[in-house]
Amino acid sequence: MKVFAGMFPARIATASITLLIVAFAVFFYRPESSPGEDTKSEGTAIYDSSETDWDDYLWPTDAGTVRTSDFAEFRRTHFHAGLDVSTGGRTGYNVFAMRDGWVHSLNFQPGGYGWILILRHHDGYYTSYAHLRSATDSIMQSYYDKLRLLGKSYGLATWERGEFPVTRGDIIAYTGDTGAGPPHLHFEIRDKDFNPVNPGLSRNLRPVDSLPPEIRQLMLVPLDASSSINESWSNLLLTPVGSGPLYSIGAMPVIRGNVGVMVRAHDRANGATDYPSPYRLRLLVDGREYFTSTMMRFADSLAWHIRIDRDHSLMQAMKGEFRKLYREEGNRLDFYVPRDIGAGVLSAESIGIGRKHLSVIAEDIAGNRASATFTVMLAADVRIQHEVSGNDLRLKLLTPDLCDELRVVQDAKPNVVVTSWNSDQAVQGVSMDMRRYHGSTLRIVTIDTVGNEQIHARFRPGPASRTAGRLYTRREIIFDEIVYDLRMSSPFTEPPVVRISQGGRVARGRVFALDASRYRAVLPTWAGFSGLARIEVEYNIGLKHIQWTDSLHGVHITPHLGGQIVSDDGQFVLSFSPFDVYRPMLCFIETLSSDTEPSYRVTPDDVPLSGRPLAAFRWTESDRRVLIQVDSPMRSYADEGHPLSHAITARVGRFLGRYRLLRDTSGPDIRIELARRSREAIRVAIGDSVSGVESASIVAMIDDMIVPLHYSERRAQWYVPSAILERYDGREFSVHVKDRLGNESSETRKLR
Ligand SMILES: [Zn+2]
Repeated sequence: MKVFAGMFPARIATASITLLIVAFAVFFYRPESSPGEDTKSEGTAIYDSSETDWDDYLWPTDAGTVRTSDFAEFRRTHFHAGLDVSTGGRTGYNVFAMRDGWVHSLNFQPGGYGWILILRHHDGYYTSYAHLRSATDSIMQSYYDKLRLLGKSYGLATWERGEFPVTRGDIIAYTGDTGAGPPHLHFEIRDKDFNPVNPGLSRNLRPVDSLPPEIRQLMLVPLDASSSINESWSNLLLTPVGSGPLYSIGAMPVIRGNVGVMVRAHDRANGATDYPSPYRLRLLVDGREYFTSTMMRFADSLAWHIRIDRDHSLMQAMKGEFRKLYREEGNRLDFYVPRDIGAGVLSAESIGIGRKHLSVIAEDIAGNRASATFTVMLAADVRIQHEVSGNDLRLKLLTPDLCDELRVVQDAKPNVVVTSWNSDQAVQGVSMDMRRYHGSTLRIVTIDTVGNEQIHARFRPGPASRTAGRLYTRREIIFDEIVYDLRMSSPFTEPPVVRISQGGRVARGRVFALDASRYRAVLPTWAGFSGLARIEVEYNIGLKHIQWTDSLHGVHITPHLGGQIVSDDGQFVLSFSPFDVYRPMLCFIETLSSDTEPSYRVTPDDVPLSGRPLAAFRWTESDRRVLIQVDSPMRSYADEGHPLSHAITARVGRFLGRYRLLRDTSGPDIRIELARRSREAIRVAIGDSVSGVESASIVAMIDDMIVPLHYSERRAQWYVPSAILERYDGREFSVHVKDRLGNESSETRKLR
């Protein structure tokens, strides 16, 4: 539904002035009907509420006021840009102009907005009304006149200021069921730059809401290879208890490194049938505002960022919509305060070590709120180095300031501290003879300066048992981290050491001791990482020293620098501009080529992209009637372009996936059917299985007069309504259409 992209040039000249006003205004904005607001902690997003007169907006229909979808609700490919109003399963209710202004445009978008009418208002704002049965007769007549002047039978028509004025409260259209969904009215408010704004900011457009939001679940997420939650590199789900609006969580997770908080919450309004995510989520640390996410407005071009604001993999796993209370590098939405990259991330650097009291507050636009409180322990990230030679275990503390004590503990009942050293000793390096402990499980533990234990290794020293066997490994790439699960059929006799090397750089992986026979190793990749990497796992079985190696070929792409990957055969290049990814990612290309249809798979293919990378196929033939196709959420086709010589290039896809080059040399197939007794007097089926039909190119004519076409979604056919046909008297009906590569087709039928 990007039809309007590019129609409204960004107002670059006024942008910096607006920013100044906005920066000033955020301190003063608050929803006016918020009872009991504490003014000092009001979360705000970049938005100037004085841009438009919110009291001027009128409820747009006589169908009722039951809301069925809220602003910024989740849609597969975008934020819901407006409000949905129930029409009780019927069509034909009146739609009123919300304000004075003029008719700006009318269009039909199959599968999306259906018939959509847009008004523009004197302050530059727009209101739009979608899924209409039709606009009023006078608007429709003016629309047909415009299409004829444009030489089109179908598509978008626009009006200039003064051409078709409307007054607040005028009937402009009738509710319908065109486009997606059952009968309902969808309406939107858009700012001067055509960015959707939350209609709830007007009290006139806000449903009655006295119900507080419900906080369902929280998730803590380790954000990089050096982070952990409760000694583990996996997400931690927290379920608050309490009947609401006050929830609490009993557990006190221990956090190291950089950890993010995500929240699954709902906000119902009285009588509304939807469960949207709340208008505003706030994260407080020890009572201070730490991060706020407010769904006031989003840039039209960033509607797809819904897959970044909400955790995509949890949604894919049907675990619900978790909203992130931290800002990732390539997320450019203006929901967040502060706006800095990494804002909201919990770390020892940002909030210090020790116990921290956190509150997550969910607020709706009417000011109802719920909160969940819990405590986390920010632990110091103590690093040690260990080495085994024979029966001698040597340990060295690498982070002396963070640690009070280093211990070796024997798993027994009760656990026995075998030996311990203070940090001064441990910095120098210490060693112990393990012979006495053969056959028992040892733990290497550090105690940080606030008393947290950290387990660095679990292993069973001694000679090989008879069953001492092989290493089982499983590899997974999670964004730019490489994760190995290492499992032995019998316990490790020494904690494994895991390393990654690439281009002369070596990095040690973080190993998490799950138990004596299982470790999870998390290896980082880094900016500039490109090409073949070698991974080594070193471990002992009995007195035998063993090395297991793996190799991996990939390119590290960062939001700030972008990056480029090339297929092994050099025929396919994928270039990432800055901000095409929203967080660093390790990419691979696999060649699937056949001679006729070059094809490549790029992974990871289930991570949403922030932008669209530039795909380029080498193409030496002169025939340009080829296009690039990629599996994104929907089949999507590229525009042809060739800034690189001997290549066809296109920006396609919101996910990575399989990229193919397709050839299309023939125009669409057209089938015309006369159905005189029907409301759809002439039916036209148009299909193009390769590049697709360019709907805006369709021209239908009776003799040499252009005739408007409507679209039936049920039949997936265009048609000439009987009422229109009656106005024409001709002998021949013809249709002319292009596909997306410009291949043309025509078809003619005698009318009598
Ligand atoms: Zn809607």
